[in-house]
Amino acid sequence: MKEYEKNKVDLHLHMDGSLPLSIIPRLAEMSGVTLPDKPLEEVFSVPADCRSLVDYLKCFDMPGKLLQTKECISYACEQLLRELYQDHVMLAEVRFAPQLHKKRGLTGEEIVNAAISGMNKALVDCPEMKAGLILCMMIGGEEAENLETVELAGSFLGKGVIALDIAGAEGMEPAEKFVPMFQRAKELGIPFTIHAGECGSYDHINLAMDLGASRIGHGVAAIYSEETMERLVREQIALEVCVISNLQTLAVPPEETHPVKKLLDRGICVTINTDNMTVSGTSLTREYDNLVKHYGFTEADILKVQENARRASFIKG
Ligand SMILES: [Zn+2]
Repeated sequence: MKEYEKNKVDLHLHMDGSLPLSIIPRLAEMSGVTLPDKPLEEVFSVPADCRSLVDYLKCFDMPGKLLQTKECISYACEQLLRELYQDHVMLAEVRFAPQLHKKRGLTGEEIVNAAISGMNKALVDCPEMKAGLILCMMIGGEEAENLETVELAGSFLGKGVIALDIAGAEGMEPAEKFVPMFQRAKELGIPFTIHAGECGSYDHINLAMDLGASRIGHGVAAIYSEETMERLVREQIALEVCVISNLQTLAVPPEETHPVKKLLDRGICVTINTDNMTVSGTSLTREYDNLVKHYGFTEADILKVQENARRASFIKG
């Protein structure tokens, strides 16, 4: 086993897009949801050659239905962490948007408590592993709900929750709308990352840095701006890059090579992550293999991105 295979770090993975396929039948039974009469892969994962954001987003419909009770959220979080541990992921930051799990009447507190209890169950049996939860506000979400997510992150900070994020369709509404949320997050001492420069322009990355983000989700559009790249290096802002997802959602156009190696060689604090393990049909093992086979990554490069990720992690100590 290579050195980098033993101690992996994932800073960017969404719980709903990363449900292990092996637990889906159990989740369906627990939720009383009937699964479509098709192979699970067809419902929960994109085809290997997916190049469509629409197809990508469709894969979140069913997970959204399965994660609406405390038991299901707790079980999903626990089993996801167990699966990560099997793949030698020793530091994992799992994210989800509490407001998407309220369809059957759960409160924000119940949802976050359920995820924390699942995480803690897994951690008892995986003693070397560290894990924490990032709560996502949603672009296009109600302002009150997004503000509630900030308050939830504040209440649970240090008790399982480690940070905040904004997810959803980038650019659909101006990030300025989130100024009050981030002001409050700063008052409460909650660090945050923002999805930016994934399917939008590098201006969004600049704006995320202006808002005070200490990391950027994806950020691949930085490659189009020398100024943005320079600022990322200067301010040591980490990019949470998810290569396979970026190809599937067309964050990187099919005719272009993913800029991950250029961004790393430019001195930017690049980290490598999975985004949505089940939707994308990926794992950190697969991401690393892909980087070595197709992007000229050496063993030292992989160790470097892991070191970057440990440094940029919101989990302290
Ligand atoms: Zn993401």
